[in-house]
Amino acid sequence: MTFRRPAGVSPAQAPVDVLTHGMQVSFEFFPPKNADSEASLWRAVQRLAPLAPRFVSVTYGAGGSTRERTHATVKRIRNETALTPVAHLTCVGAGRDEIDAVARDYWAAGIRHIVALRGDPPDGESGYRPHPDGYANAAELIEGLKRVADFEISVAAYPEIHPDSSGSQADLDNLKRKLDNGAARAITQYFFDPEVFLRFIDRARAAGIWAPIVPGILPVTNFATVVRFSRMCGASVPAWLAHMFEGLDDDPETRKLVAATVAAEQCRGLQSAGVNEFHFYTLNRADLTRAICHILGMRPQAGTPGKAAPDGLVA
Ligand code: FAD
Repeated sequence: MTFRRPAGVSPAQAPVDVLTHGMQVSFEFFPPKNADSEASLWRAVQRLAPLAPRFVSVTYGAGGSTRERTHATVKRIRNETALTPVAHLTCVGAGRDEIDAVARDYWAAGIRHIVALRGDPPDGESGYRPHPDGYANAAELIEGLKRVADFEISVAAYPEIHPDSSGSQADLDNLKRKLDNGAARAITQYFFDPEVFLRFIDRARAAGIWAPIVPGILPVTNFATVVRFSRMCGASVPAWLAHMFEGLDDDPETRKLVAATVAAEQCRGLQSAGVNEFHFYTLNRADLTRAICHILGMRPQAGTPGKAAPDGLVA
């Protein structure tokens, strides 16, 4: 995150160009499972591309389960669009040689930016156990990737502390280690209260971490799923959020409007505190993310560069 307070201007009154000047976004997708979900992913990519994101990233399934699909998606974005694709890569289920080979393959394909992660244990396993010949954690993975090539590297950060961490300081020490090992920026786990993020930034800066920390924004499409997932990843779900989605389980139209409003308010709160970069967990849907970006002042860029894809999918 770049922290930039518009000097002397109340955010609520600031002209739009002051608030949006220099704003950057990135979009996260997951690799599609079948032809139908591939088509909806590409529709989402097409709808979001004109916002000229800094990059679009593609996740790596838990336990390395989507390795081939992640590669295929990243390479398709690289080959068929003018967007900058970024590959997520985890340490799970593979030895160092195997992971280094994947990284070399990405470099050869022109992929220069990786989100380097430890990953979670495969389903059914309690607690993370590194592969016997593998990288033990994200910090080690970064060292390995940097030996392969001079990748730009982003890493994960946790405003509400990673569930495996012994505490706030240990989590910050780990983030610092990842940045010291060569990561250029951190992207946060999602959170809902802007204050949670802003307090985390204060703690990180006090710990001497000055790299950009970009807030990860999750527009809520299914509240029950968010509650379940948040229990696992340690994100808190405030009571006001539950109240917002109360009674909307069978009302998808209203739910969508509420979801856009909630996430837009969250982002506006951050924007008014000087945050001008956002990473959106799109869940392969363009509608909410596009609406939120619009409210933040972003407009499709005329003549957004796009390669002429044979299927005409790219803006
Ligand atoms: P690490 O930074 O290695 O740390 C994990 C925990 O271990 C922390 O608590 C840390 O403090 C502790 N730790 C690490 N090293 C040490 C040490 N030497 N001593 C003591 N404690 C240590 N998961 C996927 O499977 N695929 C994805 O594509 C994916 N993308 C993500 C994108 C973002 C932006 C975020 C925020 C998360 C993503 N995740 C993804 C989830 C991530 O893999 C999990 O949160 C995982 O449990 C931790 O990964 P990490 O890279 O943060 O781990």
